[in-house]
Amino acid sequence: MSQQKKKTALLSTSLKLICTDFDGTLAEADGRPISDAFFERLTAWRRHGDVYWIINTGRTFASLQEDLVRRKAPIWPNWVVALEREIWLVRDRRGVGWFEWNRKCELMHTQLFESVHPVWKLVEDYITRHTQAKLVEDAGSPLGIIASCEEEADEISAFMTPLLANWPTLIAVRNSIYFRFSHKFYHKGACLEAISSGLAILPPQIFVAGDHLNDLPMMDHRYARHIGCPSNSVDEVKKKVRAEGGYVASAKVAEGTVEALDRLCPLPRR
Ligand SMILES: [Mg+2]
Repeated sequence: MSQQKKKTALLSTSLKLICTDFDGTLAEADGRPISDAFFERLTAWRRHGDVYWIINTGRTFASLQEDLVRRKAPIWPNWVVALEREIWLVRDRRGVGWFEWNRKCELMHTQLFESVHPVWKLVEDYITRHTQAKLVEDAGSPLGIIASCEEEADEISAFMTPLLANWPTLIAVRNSIYFRFSHKFYHKGACLEAISSGLAILPPQIFVAGDHLNDLPMMDHRYARHIGCPSNSVDEVKKKVRAEGGYVASAKVAEGTVEALDRLCPLPRR
């Protein structure tokens, strides 16, 4: 390979985008600051060129914003995906919604949620009569569900799967014991693809990390070539990471995410 071709190949595969889930992937449940190791690695990568950071979360933008302040995050992400489907550009620690994407997303969900109205009563009846779970308000869904434990969440998933087969574009998005409903075309992977396409960044230039079921759609070679997860991830995530040729870390949360990043995308020598 000629020197020029080698240089072009190197440039096209160098890291340009780090896309992380938040809770369990960077942030501990106890509210302590995110490990410095993550910010140190991000800073080190940025000495080699532009490297963007997306937080891709099920939280609302406001909830994430509050938590980043509370945890005294020294660096904020360039982009946030909130509720697994809204896209926000971050400027001066404030969110600027990607109007075209978010407007279309909202319209699609409004139409979908109206068109599938019989499902809400069926789900409400099941949850009320057969589980200890709570029905709650959810910012992105006509119904939110909080199961009493992981086992009960498994049972709710088992109930949901055949029921939702009647409405092929409606999906239940599960994150641990939490459920919300969504359009199947809007998920963490679709949002990552929309942002990276807009930045002209290719999958070989993207690292992605997550720990739970709602992260599975973005942990896919179509969206990112480098896929990792911390050791606290659920088994389904670890299985998917291995199937995609990624790396399951031995450390937890942010330290594990950094371990995976280092393994899959070693920092270039200067
Ligand atoms: Mg998580």
